[in-house]
Parts: sequence; structure tokens; C-alpha cells
Amino acid sequence: MPEEINPFKIAQQQIDIVAEKLELKKGIHEFIRWPHRELEVHFPVKLDNGDIITFTGFRVQHNNARGPCKGGIRYHPSVTLDEVRALATWMTWKTAVVNIPYGGAKGGVICNPKEMSVSELERLTRRFTSEISIIIGPEKDIPAPDVYTDAQTMAWIMDTYSMNVGYSVPGVVTGKPLCCGGSLGRHEATARGCMFTIREALKHMDYKVIPPEKWQAECKIDENDEIIGEGIGENVCDGDMGSGYRFDNTTVAIQGFGNAGSIAADLLSHKGAKVIAVSDSKGGIINKEGFDTDKLIDHKLKTGTVLGFIEATEEVGTNDVLEVECDILVPAALENQITETNVENIKVKIVAEAANGPTTPAADKILFEKKIFLIPDILANAGGVTVSYFEWVQGLQQFFWSERDVNIKLREIMVKAFDEVLEMSEKHQIDMRTAAYMLAVQRVADAIMIRGIFP
Ligand code: NAD
Repeated sequence: MPEEINPFKIAQQQIDIVAEKLELKKGIHEFIRWPHRELEVHFPVKLDNGDIITFTGFRVQHNNARGPCKGGIRYHPSVTLDEVRALATWMTWKTAVVNIPYGGAKGGVICNPKEMSVSELERLTRRFTSEISIIIGPEKDIPAPDVYTDAQTMAWIMDTYSMNVGYSVPGVVTGKPLCCGGSLGRHEATARGCMFTIREALKHMDYKVIPPEKWQAECKIDENDEIIGEGIGENVCDGDMGSGYRFDNTTVAIQGFGNAGSIAADLLSHKGAKVIAVSDSKGGIINKEGFDTDKLIDHKLKTGTVLGFIEATEEVGTNDVLEVECDILVPAALENQITETNVENIKVKIVAEAANGPTTPAADKILFEKKIFLIPDILANAGGVTVSYFEWVQGLQQFFWSERDVNIKLREIMVKAFDEVLEMSEKHQIDMRTAAYMLAVQRVADAIMIRGIFP
């Protein structure tokens, strides 16, 4: 029988496995299998040609035991309620695994933003915000960007919400532009957090990672404890102060070249890694010598795709990059990309899940058997929500931090979470995903139990 790939069923299966291991109370197990609150809305939007189209959108809040709900909003033709439920559930575990005081939520609108004008997207966003404004708010549920939504979308949401309450409320969304309450470092945070977890994995495996003392001979540490010297580039501002590890000689393949994927490519290559394969929704490209990622990002910005990039030696399908032999694979597109159909062809040392839910449970088992080190999504891509948390804190206090402070605090949180998950996995001899879930689910269950069941 083919594997079930309904993401919400997968999210529930993951909870079931962990609930058994943690010996969770039956009632708590049943409660966390389902989102606490779901809102489905059907709303009209006027197109530029005067036509009126009814769109469907969702906001799902999975759990708020540890704090306000938090999670992105996705615009995509294949959004479904079950997908949003799964993503909301994963947000609960993600915020718990990095131990920031949030619960989990997610939103989505079924639409094709590529076929809509900017003004149509603005009207869709403003109307959707109004529709869900009864359940969002800085103390209740704080949206952020996800697939095909960005800082501009967040600015429209903040403005719409603020207009309705009569004053500016920067804390209602994160991932905003810098000019209206965004945080330095937020744009790069998902990829940077992912890079930190890859660095920790390479260190743990003692694989192709170059510790600072091996390459710092010709570099100096300046008065701010930052490394300076020729070719240091990214290390100066990446929160690696005084401890820059390099990844020279590692090779990387990345599926998805948007916010998470393209910035991960750039950060990893500035650390010395060779990015040898990338893809987006239109196709993939390969060059075994590695791409100049600055030029590749420029090409993607100009043409809307990685295809046609001058350094490509081969053009392939979107999913073929998953099967390229290399050290590190970063799925950074959508769910269910590594399945039982293609997992046998994956030939890497590390899979770092920048995307949410890219691996199905059947494929997960096989990755573990193949001794591929998996950095699970709720850990690998938690940098985004972590800096969203910093943005929310800064907005509530109206006190803004330097990029260096943001990156250092991000590094501290990511490294601590990585260490805790690794320790759990070693202690119980389990894979990293199950370990991350055990840590997260236990934290949420503890919060539910200690708060007690109302009334
Ligand atoms: P994005 O819209 O910026 O980019 C998505 C990219 O994926 C685009 O390049 C698109 O062309 C590509 N893509 C779509 N379908 C593809 C396919 N079948 N094969 C190859 N590429 C494909 O989105 P994003 O924000 O980078 O999000 C990507 C993933 O990372 C999602 O799973 C998202 O939930 C997750 N994520 C993002 C953030 C964040 O802060 N942006 C945080 C946590 C998790």
C-alpha cells in the first residue's frame, strides 16, 4: 500500500510515537493530537479587472499552553486545512524545542500569488487579516511569513490590524520590514539557524569541519571579539564571534531557492562549503565545482528562476537535486519531498530540514537505517521563529537590538537546542526527530498539566 502522505496524519503519527515513549496520560495525548482552535473563512476579493473572486483561508491554533500562538501564513494553490493543521502542530513543537514562550499556529490562503498583481495581493491580505482578526493579536496569535508571503505581506497585515484598533500594533506580526518594527537579522534567521545546526552536526560527527585554531593563524580577533582578516567575510557578522568554524570541502545540495534555501546557500558557501546543486519550482541546476551563490541569487532575482544560470553544467528536474551525491542536503521547499520512493537514492551524510515536513515517516526510518544524520525541521528551521520572538520582544518594548546581538542570541538558542536534542537522542538511542519531539512534547505536556484543565 502506498505511504499515506496527508501531512496532518503524519503530524498525528509523530505525536503517537512520542506519547507512547513518554508514557503520556491518555487525555493529554488525545488533546495534543488536535488543534485547539480552527477558523475557516471564505471571503471576496475584487480583482483588477473588476471581477469578484471568493477565496478560502484558514488560521489554525494548535496549542497555547506555553504562550501566545505563533506561526506563518502561506499563500499557495495547494493549501488545505489538513496542511495548515499539520504546520500549526509542528509550530507548537518547534517553539517548545527551542524553548521560547509560544504555542503553535499557522495560516494559509488557497490562491496562486504568481498569477495575482501586487494590488490584488494587497486586497486579499487586508481582507484575510480582517477575517481572522478576531483570533490574532500580540497577546493571542502572531502571524509571520511563510511560502509566498514576505515582509510586505506582514506590513499590510500590521497596517490592517492597526487601522481596525486605531493605533499601531507592531507586535501583531513578525517578519515585518525594518522601517515599521522589523528586526535586524530576521530575513536571514531561518537559514542562519539552519547553518548553526549544520555546524553543530559536523562538529558532532567530526566531519570536514575546520575549527578556528586550524585556520585563524593569519587572522586576528578585534576589540569586539570578532574575527578579522582576509577572506573571513561572513564570519565577521554571523554571530560566530571568536569561534568561527569553516566548512571548506563540504558539498551541499538545496531544494527550494526562496528565503530559506537561497540564504542557506549563501551562508554555507561563505563558510567555505561548495553549493553544487539547487532547484526551485521550475527546475534544478548542478555544477560539481560549486556555484558562486552571490551571482546565483542575483540571477534568481532577475529571472525568477535558477534555470539558465551561466555556471550550471547540467539542468535537471526540481526533485533531482535531492538525489545528488554530496555531504549536506537541505530540503527548503515544501512537505513530502523525501519519500519511500526516492529515499534509497539519497546519498548524503546530513539532511538539514529547512522546510517544514519534507520527509515522510517511512522515509525517516530508512534515513535512520542508512545512518544519515537528520536535523529535523522543528530544530533545523527554528531560527526563523526564534528571531521572530526577538522581533516581538523588541516591538513590545520599542527597544531595538543590533544585528550582532540578534545573531549571538540566535546562536545561543540554536546551539543549546541542538545539544539538548542530541543528548536526548544519545540517551535513549533514538533518531534526532524522535528526540526533538520527546523534548518538545514533554515541555508542552508539562505546561498543560501544571496549568491544569479549565474549569
Ligand atoms: P519561499 O516562498 O521564499 O521559497 C520557496 C521556494 O521553494 C521557491 O524558490 C520555490 O520556487 C521553491 N519550490 C516550490 N516548489 C518546489 C519544488 N517542488 N521543488 C523545488 N523547489 C520548489 O518560502 P520559504 O520561506 O523559503 O519557505 C520554504 C520552506 O521553509 C517551507 O517549508 C517553509 O514552511 C519553511 N520555513 C520557512 C521559514 C521562513 O522564515 N521563511 C521558517 C521556517 C520554515
